[in-house]
Amino acid sequence: MSKPDKLILIVTRKCNLRCRYCPVSKSGSSISPAVFERAIDLFSAAGGKEIKFFGGEPLLEFPSIRSAADYALKKDGGIKFEIASNGYLLNKEIEDWLLDRKIGLTVSFDLEGKNFHGRIKISPDLKNLLRKMVPGKLAAALVVTPGKTPLLFENFHVLARAGFKSINLLPTFYTLSWQEEELAALKKELAAVSALARSLGIDLPGFGKEKAERDPLYNLAWAVDCNGDLYGSDFFLLDGFLAEKAAKLGNVLSLESLPAWKRPTCRFKKEVEASNQRLKEVLDGIAS
Ligand code: SF4
Repeated sequence: MSKPDKLILIVTRKCNLRCRYCPVSKSGSSISPAVFERAIDLFSAAGGKEIKFFGGEPLLEFPSIRSAADYALKKDGGIKFEIASNGYLLNKEIEDWLLDRKIGLTVSFDLEGKNFHGRIKISPDLKNLLRKMVPGKLAAALVVTPGKTPLLFENFHVLARAGFKSINLLPTFYTLSWQEEELAALKKELAAVSALARSLGIDLPGFGKEKAERDPLYNLAWAVDCNGDLYGSDFFLLDGFLAEKAAKLGNVLSLESLPAWKRPTCRFKKEVEASNQRLKEVLDGIAS
């Protein structure tokens, strides 16, 4: 990869949920208008066309996202936006804005938690969006944790029946260790889901793409933290990541232009590396 054409803005390190598998290092920080604007200035001057709002839960800072998108569109009307959200904070104001501006939204689901009773429930707000949103602008991400794979196929089907045409399957990296028997169960379930997706014409974005793209915290892109620090991927969100110091490419508040992009290297504790590696091998074996 020579130079990414995507900018990931970490809108906030705050989240309204506390998922047990969450690898994101949380804090009370949110991005400031100065960081938003400077990051967008640098990115659009380099011809960038795709901005993703990420977190934490970005919709906690919806007014800031709206201002940042307006600012970016004044610079370049062709810029496309995407928000990755847990969906809990959707409301009419946000929905109207998403529809009006044709902003992409990826809503994540998982198969656990005290409100989960075996089947994913689609909220009325989300059903409304599924009815109205431009096809391709609304996607689901389905997080799979060890021990929950038997629920995967059925719940993939729930999302498919609800109308999602793109479902990103995300077995968890980093935080929960996958044992051999769980990986075998995952492999079987993923093969069945992959066949179902093909028969229903549903896109599985994490499959058939660059391997790192299957890992939600290793997207190769320009990525800006709440304080303006710039990296070559969003891996810096990981709790306790062991990255090389050189991974930081600067801070947008003091950069004159985007520097040369560098694929970051990131090391983890040995047991995390081993579990991640075994999981990657399983995913590589699944046809797209
Ligand atoms: S996984 Fe996402 S929704 Fe869950 S706690 Fe982490 S940032 Fe929040």
